[in-house]
Amino acid sequence: MTPDLMEEGAKRLERQASAQATGRATESGGRQAGFSRLVTPGEVDTTHGRILYLEDVSVSFDGFKAINKLSLDIAPGELRCIIGPNGAGKTTMMDIITGKTRPDSGQVFFGSTIDLLRYREAEIAAMGIGRKFQKPTVFEQLTVFENLELALATDKRVRRSMVFTLTGEDKDRLGEVLQTIHLADSAARLAGNLSHGQKQWLEIGMLLMQDPRLLLLDEPVAGMTDEETERTAQLFLTLKGKHSLMVVEHDMNFIRTISEKVTVLCDGAVLAEGTLDQVQADERVIEVYLGR
Ligand code: ADP
Ligand code: MG
Repeated sequence: MTPDLMEEGAKRLERQASAQATGRATESGGRQAGFSRLVTPGEVDTTHGRILYLEDVSVSFDGFKAINKLSLDIAPGELRCIIGPNGAGKTTMMDIITGKTRPDSGQVFFGSTIDLLRYREAEIAAMGIGRKFQKPTVFEQLTVFENLELALATDKRVRRSMVFTLTGEDKDRLGEVLQTIHLADSAARLAGNLSHGQKQWLEIGMLLMQDPRLLLLDEPVAGMTDEETERTAQLFLTLKGKHSLMVVEHDMNFIRTISEKVTVLCDGAVLAEGTLDQVQADERVIEVYLGR
């Protein structure tokens, strides 16, 4: 990879709201470096059976309650599906978890001990909460391999000097991630030449390079072909257990393939929770969402 591309890519990554910092020390020696050493993904306290919980969370935009006393919790290794009509607050909920939006009230905890409301977006990413936005944001001029490599090269010093050597462990991880996201045969291809679905998998792969404890995925199969959607379902099924996943989707076939517990969000709060069959049979859910 040329230094120019590496530098440009690195800058973009930093600018991106989803910029992933790792537990590696940064050169700043500032709050983030200290913090990264303090909490690494393995250290999240899940002894109370929750990787994430929100309690009574509310946020208003110009007087409009986008999130209204929302309470929710996710178990370690769980794959939780979130459905609900447009405007229900699904994306805003992810904005709150990842530190992009500050709630007006309520609590948001990562494990039992980490109060996420005390941290900034980059710090939250560094703790092991990865977020996939709707639109793929891979670096089109770089190869698949280089994109994954870049996701590891989060140390600013490394980016500046352009001397980035993969350790044996990094190489193993990269190889593993390539297999997981079904792109092992495409490692040398330019990301710009991938299909839409493959770009989405690559972006998930970039998140996986950071080995996140919790992955938030906002409408991951939108725009995918049926075959890509099915492969994505299989991918998520292989990720659960090792990671906790929160998946927002409208595609009910996809939800049916992957879901255990489904949460229906409406007007910024939980309307119903249960198996897909249970929530689909719920009169209130039919009225606000499924019956449209
Ligand atoms: P969903 O993802 O479920 O479709 P959103 O979380 O995007 O819903 O939006 C919930 C509501 O909050 C919508 O009515 C939306 O217009 C509003 N909203 C979201 N973010 C902002 C913002 N930054 N400023 C003003 N209104 C917002
Ligand atoms: Mg949304």
